[in-house]
Amino acid sequence: MEYKILTYPDKELKKVSAPVEKIDDEIVNIIKSMSELMLKNNGIGLAAPQIAIKKRLIIVNEKALGGDSKIIAMINPQILSYERFYEEHDEGCLSVPGFYGKVSDRRRYIRVKYLDLEGQEQEVDIDNFLSVVVQHEIDHLNGILFVDRINFVEKLRFKKFLKETK
Ligand SMILES: [Zn+2]
Repeated sequence: MEYKILTYPDKELKKVSAPVEKIDDEIVNIIKSMSELMLKNNGIGLAAPQIAIKKRLIIVNEKALGGDSKIIAMINPQILSYERFYEEHDEGCLSVPGFYGKVSDRRRYIRVKYLDLEGQEQEVDIDNFLSVVVQHEIDHLNGILFVDRINFVEKLRFKKFLKETK
């Protein structure tokens, strides 16, 4: 099946996704399609609802910051704990193409629980840049976009951007 990435302000992006009940061929195929789409668009993460599949499923590119890609699929990911705020920095999103804005409430360290493709429960500590990517992707599962988290000044800039790109 041919998937495409939904873009802001598509209302589907605002919906909360449901947990994956069973890891079957369908899920494996979705992950494969998501990986292809992400790499094709030079993304570093993608969540299933971005391609109109409202399932709690994300992928992130662990090697985003250098060299070959290494994609991790996280099924039903859950953040167990957060630590320390991360410095403000620009975020972007394949569903908001062309706009980058500062998000201030990301955490530097997170502990995440998820199911891998074999259905095994994994618990990992993630820090720095990858931690922000995972927080960003899990937000998608809850219908939250990074532009919902930017400050007032950045929101004005986003409005201007939307007007200019119409
Ligand atoms: Zn995104």
